[in-house]
Amino acid sequence: MSVHADNGTHVTHARDGRCEVAIAGGGLVGMSLAIALGRGRVPVTLVEASKASPESASGYDSRPIALSQGSRRILHTLGVWQSLSAAVTPITRIHVSDRGHFGFARLRAEDYSVDALGYVIAAGDLGQALEAALGSCEGVRVLRPATVDAVTRDDSPEAQLCIAATGDKPVEDLPSRVRAKLMVLCDGGHSPLREQLGIPVNERDYGQFAVTARVEARSHHDGVAYERFTAAGPLALLPMHGNHCGLVWSMDADSSKHLLALDDDGFLAALTEQFGTRLGGFVSAGPRNAFPLRLVTATEVVGRRLAIIGNAANSLHPVAGQGLNLGLRDVAALAEIISGSLREGGDPGDASLLAHYAQCRRHDQKRVSLATDALVRLFSNRLTPLVLARGLGLLAFDLFPPIKRHFGNHAMGLGGHHSRLARGLSL
Ligand SMILES: Cc1cc2nc3c(=O)[nH]c(=O)nc-3n(C[C@H](O)[C@H](O)[C@H](O)COP(=O)(O)OP(=O)(O)OC[C@H]3O[C@@H](n4cnc5c(N)ncnc54)[C@H](O)[C@@H]3O)c2cc1C
Repeated sequence: MSVHADNGTHVTHARDGRCEVAIAGGGLVGMSLAIALGRGRVPVTLVEASKASPESASGYDSRPIALSQGSRRILHTLGVWQSLSAAVTPITRIHVSDRGHFGFARLRAEDYSVDALGYVIAAGDLGQALEAALGSCEGVRVLRPATVDAVTRDDSPEAQLCIAATGDKPVEDLPSRVRAKLMVLCDGGHSPLREQLGIPVNERDYGQFAVTARVEARSHHDGVAYERFTAAGPLALLPMHGNHCGLVWSMDADSSKHLLALDDDGFLAALTEQFGTRLGGFVSAGPRNAFPLRLVTATEVVGRRLAIIGNAANSLHPVAGQGLNLGLRDVAALAEIISGSLREGGDPGDASLLAHYAQCRRHDQKRVSLATDALVRLFSNRLTPLVLARGLGLLAFDLFPPIKRHFGNHAMGLGGHHSRLARGLSL
């Protein structure tokens, strides 16, 4: 049966709502998984609560996302990167400093023999490219706007998902149930389904918000990404097109409210006060958004006919720009394991297969969430001995090439195990 989905795709699927893999949540991670599996000809149903974004007005926010070299490779193998060349800006250098204290660190692309340490893209541009790629994946059925309201798992070899429409316009042929051998939760950090399924989480509320905006500087950034630790919280300025930079500035709730309420001149003055005049000051600011910041890590990332990936598994502070990069590595590992099993006539929801996935991802997920949390706590502290220690730490980091190389390789997503997608190989 062929269905015209809300995103304009024609897909073919079984009438009884059965598929190999059902994905709850079509954000950046859920869509990437659907594309990876779809390219491998795995029958997939993706359920996403929001409407598809029209071409002219992205439904996504404009948060700047720094993608690692590893993520670039994964997106390239999926055929998504090729359409993004006009939307991405390479990061050729990173400059880390602690406002009002000594010590800074620099990373340069040439020290790692790469053209770029990473790439900056607006989340909306990446979302639209993924939607377009999804449209060309036969065998991926997209149900949107619709939600997965409940999940039942019993001894049968399938999970059952209850589907409900969420938009004002009914989705044609929307099934009330979808049955899948494996259900993948990609419904974000605040995941009601994860809670409904009784998966415990470790949680830390940072009591901070990340204020984001696109700002235009007087001088060109020369591809430098700045990370500045200020008394209010970490401030990242990421290079974007022309003289534009993507700002991600974390601070407590009251300060973020104050910053959002300022007019553009007041906002740019506050930014200049904290960042300084390195880029010659700022001339304009785009719309501002604020995101609450919490560390949420699921204690289990697999269960009976269930895998949890992306923010639903690990929701991180954006200070190190690692959340989506980590989620894309989840996608690459899970898609590789599922495709390999199906090729040999296996069951994608098989318990030992899922345990293998969890084991493959454990080290990376733990390392990145611990390191990100440690960074937030270290630089939030104003105790004099710690301030001194981190100044020395930044200097040592800058002067000691082996530490820099090790850190840089991991930050670029080039350390550890490489999935097939990250090596440019199809599944
Ligand atoms: C300010 C900021 C800056 C960041 N910068 C970076 C960066 O530089 N680099 C980086 O790697 N990461 C960065 N991140 C993190 C990155 O944005 C996230 O890790 C990533 O977007 C998570 O994607 P996701 O698909 O897992 O979750 P989400 O984006 O939360 O998507 C979840 C989706 O599930 C849908 N959904 C929810 N419930 C249901 C349901 N019941 N049924 C159907 N659909 C449902 C929602 O509509 C949504 O589309 C940043 C985050 C913030 C806040």
